[in-house]
Amino acid sequence: MSTVKFFSGEDVPLEMHKVRIVQKLNLPPVDYRLKAITEAGNNTFLLQNRDVFMDMLTDSGVNAMSDQQQAAMLVADDSYAGSETYNRLETKLREIFGLHYFLPTHQGRAAENILSQVLVKAGMIVPMNYHFTTTKAHITLNGGSVEEIITDAGLEVTSEHPFKGNMDIGKLTALVEQHGRDKIAFVRMEAGTNLIGGQPFSLQNLADIRQVCDRYNLLLVLDASLLADNLYFIKEREERCKSLSIREITRQMAALCDIIYFSARKLGCARGGGICLKTEELYRKMRGLVPLYEGFLTYGGMSVREMEALTVGLEETMDEDMINQGPQFIRYMVDELVKRGIPVITPAGGLGCHLNAMEFLRHVPQSQYPAGALASALYIASGIRGMERGTLSEQRDPDGNEVFANMELLRLALPRRVFTLSQVKYAIDRITWLHENRGLVGGLEFIEEPEILRFFYGRLKPISGWQEKLLARFQQDFGDSL
Ligand SMILES: *Cc1c(COP(=O)(O)O)cnc(C)c1O
Repeated sequence: MSTVKFFSGEDVPLEMHKVRIVQKLNLPPVDYRLKAITEAGNNTFLLQNRDVFMDMLTDSGVNAMSDQQQAAMLVADDSYAGSETYNRLETKLREIFGLHYFLPTHQGRAAENILSQVLVKAGMIVPMNYHFTTTKAHITLNGGSVEEIITDAGLEVTSEHPFKGNMDIGKLTALVEQHGRDKIAFVRMEAGTNLIGGQPFSLQNLADIRQVCDRYNLLLVLDASLLADNLYFIKEREERCKSLSIREITRQMAALCDIIYFSARKLGCARGGGICLKTEELYRKMRGLVPLYEGFLTYGGMSVREMEALTVGLEETMDEDMINQGPQFIRYMVDELVKRGIPVITPAGGLGCHLNAMEFLRHVPQSQYPAGALASALYIASGIRGMERGTLSEQRDPDGNEVFANMELLRLALPRRVFTLSQVKYAIDRITWLHENRGLVGGLEFIEEPEILRFFYGRLKPISGWQEKLLARFQQDFGDSL
């Protein structure tokens, strides 16, 4: 779509790939969907995939692979130590990022475990644009704490700001001055900030952060899990990058960082992860933990097949036609919802379309988890599985008090190259119906609340019998149709 214009003038996200393997989907009837979500404790993580029509839970490990990736998997060199597969991956990472050292891990959070164990000591602070669930958990587990110093624009739900993922440089300097540089474990920038709507930061912002890091001798760590989207947005929205290739932008970003880690469940459309490091000193500090937690240094818990797919996937990430598909589908969905007056995060980001549940269900207080309630209601209305990203995804404070999230979002991820435009239109249609009938949707309360990462296993029930009313309205409006 970036280059193909329609004669009609219509803005259509045209796929630059064709579908060669398909998988059958199942759309269970609405009364069955109510039963399924009830059994799942109104937690979309606990639904069975066979009961899901469009799985928009996440983009993790579910992006479609290319034919080249599949083909590469067949020629993997299976050996415990020193496999050619590993060498190919290491060479590709060096070529793309220009950082010399690499440590493989089985996924992104495993990289966070190693980084946090080595760099975070009790009482230390990690300034970052915004946290990710597993990142924060590993930092706090090691006695550290997270300071989110995103610019104020980042937390405005609706905005035109092109780089809502930027860090506030003034706040960073103030933080270092206040606590002293020895208290700062490292500075972390997350590409395509996951929890606030897949919003990018600019290359200029990263360069400004580098200057502060140089001034205080601090490490700059990039979480590159959602780098593909961020690269696309930099090329699209940052004036001085318009004439640069994706490869050149990647190199310029990487040159500013000491460490780049990633989840290959997202970056590179495979399954795995790893840490790229600039210096041998850092590499030596962390190397010992890889065999301990992950596996030997030439696989780190990844299968050789996945490593081959990752090597090809990383190269494909340098292709604008590849990385634009996600953001352009998301923009289409966001634009259509905005036209219908449905509250979503704007501008459209990467990763997915984010419904603003605080506004969508204005009558449901935060203590009754509006984003969780919206996730449950949307599944009943459509068979679509989204992910709550709001108060349910937070942890209670040490005194057991609820910590209200800055935003109450229902994230509808668009795994890359997986859905067709008609499926996206179905999603828009059912969301529109739900919005028309939003008054019927009520809140949720816990019946089972785990202490750690409660959003994964927690079970909830509706407050009052709102779900039956929603079901009745659906059957009235759609008759026998699913
Ligand atoms: C998914 C993700 C992680 C964790 O990666 P896993 O492979 O799921 O362990 C870390 N950071 C960000 C930004 C992510 O999106």
